Amino acid sequence: MNLFNLRRKVASFENHHDIQPLHDDQARECLMPSVERPRQVFVRGQGSWLWDSDGRAYLDFTQGGAANSLGHSPSVLVRALADQAQALINPGAGFHNRGMLRLADLLCQCTDSDQVYLLNSGTEACEGAIKLARKWGQRHRNGAYRIITASQGCHGHSLGAMSASDRAGCEGLFEPKVSGFCKVPFNDLQAMHAAVDAQTVAIMLEPIQGDAGVIPASQEYLKGVERLCRELGILLILDEVQTGVGRCGALLAEETYGVRADIVTLGKGLGGGVPLAALLARGTACCAEPGELDGSHHGNALMSTAGLAVLQAVLEPGFFERVLDCGRHFRDGLSHLASRYGQGEVRGQGLLWGLRLVDDSAAAMVKAALQEGLLLNAPQPDCLRFSPALTVSKGNIDEMLLRLARAFARVRTAQLSR
Ligand SMILES: *Cc1c(COP(=O)(O)O)cnc(C)c1O
Repeated sequence: MNLFNLRRKVASFENHHDIQPLHDDQARECLMPSVERPRQVFVRGQGSWLWDSDGRAYLDFTQGGAANSLGHSPSVLVRALADQAQALINPGAGFHNRGMLRLADLLCQCTDSDQVYLLNSGTEACEGAIKLARKWGQRHRNGAYRIITASQGCHGHSLGAMSASDRAGCEGLFEPKVSGFCKVPFNDLQAMHAAVDAQTVAIMLEPIQGDAGVIPASQEYLKGVERLCRELGILLILDEVQTGVGRCGALLAEETYGVRADIVTLGKGLGGGVPLAALLARGTACCAEPGELDGSHHGNALMSTAGLAVLQAVLEPGFFERVLDCGRHFRDGLSHLASRYGQGEVRGQGLLWGLRLVDDSAAAMVKAALQEGLLLNAPQPDCLRFSPALTVSKGNIDEMLLRLARAFARVRTAQLSR
């Protein structure tokens, strides 16, 4: 169908009320190509379940890429959003709102940070961390600005955050990249040591590399990097956009490693499904001055209130213990299934897991799982990622494993018939 002709026809209507909505299949053509999406249109969600427009149910073990920390439409979030929307949606970033103040206060207290800046996305939080580190370098390290990051790391999609990242397929894209970044192999302390020079201001890492295929830093490595930063007088930035807010069975993954960064970024799970992120700073890293960080929706009242509801929920007594308990159940079940189908290693922590496949069948597995009513994600051609709701039940996990087994069988049958 020719959309341009259709648009012209619509545009010639005298009255906007005459515009007819397109059928979903046609409306899709209006979207600029970005990520590949299956054809389903999702209309409803509850907990670990999603329903499409045909009324079919799916068990969701991606949860918006770990964003829906409490699952779909949790009542605490729905209520907080409804009440805040009634009272005040947006006084503007130039004014205080109660949600902004309460969320900043709670975040500082429970992460033992000194200052917080609220933003809209993990990308923005990482971009903010880069800016803060460069500012600190001007003030404390003779204008040093270089930031060392890890191979295969992912810190977001803006030009700056993309330049800090090392994602496959981004080489040569949108050149020239932002300069001042240097990438070294992950979990290699010697390579990290060798990369630091007089222009280096910070080291920026994910405690568990998510997009690389759920690859945890070893404790020895992360503690070693922290020690290196202290010895050399440079900043440690931990990107906890994916690992933070309870995902790894603690509020921050850094706690489980026994390290303490100067700057921490949060995103994804913080908003529980609405766009919200945070930049946390400690000690001398609190060097932002008025006018340096700004954004129309930074500290937005509606989103901040959502974040407060999510944070209060995960800080309830026993919440992290439940995440760890379900995580062990998940790991055991997945390991069992993986060995039954001759697949590779199960990696992760809390409720963030990756399964290494023996071949590049991750995309085929995601498709097969979708047919079995299971939503999964493939961060790498040979890796499946699982980031269920932190409120997932063991029953949900068992049902997921049944559907995953059927997906394995489907892919195997397709491979044998080729
Ligand atoms: C997802 C992610 C980002 C980017 O967050 P967006 O909200 O997608 O902009 C940055 N860092 C890490 C570790 C992530 O997982």
